[in-house]
Amino acid sequence: MQSRIQVIRGDITTMQVDVIVNAANSSLMGGGGVDGAIHRAAGPALLEACKVVRQQQGECAPGHAVITLAGNLPAKAVIHTVGPIWRGGEHNEARLLEDAYRNSLQLARDNDFHSIAFPAISTGIYGYPKAAAAEIAFHAVSDYITRRPQPEQIYFVCYDEENAGLYERLLTQQGDEPVA
Ligand code: ADP
Repeated sequence: MQSRIQVIRGDITTMQVDVIVNAANSSLMGGGGVDGAIHRAAGPALLEACKVVRQQQGECAPGHAVITLAGNLPAKAVIHTVGPIWRGGEHNEARLLEDAYRNSLQLARDNDFHSIAFPAISTGIYGYPKAAAAEIAFHAVSDYITRRPQPEQIYFVCYDEENAGLYERLLTQQGDEPVA
């Protein structure tokens, strides 16, 4: 049986899925890295939608997630979640990173989405060590989906080689585990 989790090397803005996840910052006003790439590909409608969310509910705290339209992207919607900034590991970073994945999955479920694509949240500008972040991401998602049929398909989209290698290894390890 094919895993519900797949690892893709490439650019998340090209993903033809129900919803892609943006590693946003709390302002929701765009930024560098994957956030910038998503806003560029989506066009100005995305920033307008983010401004509406900001007006309605203020900033998005680390670990939380909000949803908007997707403008010109092939996806139907964008979930904006805010990962933690790495500050040495003693500032609740692991918990906040796990929350970012779990709350994004929950929003996808609430919107009846079947497929979702994640970037490696916090592993760029926010400086989270990639191996530790990959473990958290993979286990948060695996744990969430074992008890829920939706979303059916989860893609980890890795833009850099290091993340791709880490996620591919985690997926292989999972495949090797005996089925309970
Ligand atoms: P953060 O501020 O959460 O660290 P970044 O955007 O700086 O967010 O980086 C998060 C991850 O997104 C990094 O691993 C980076 O390689 C990756 N990334 C950058 N551009 C893209 C893209 N177009 N598609 C998928 N991942 C991307």
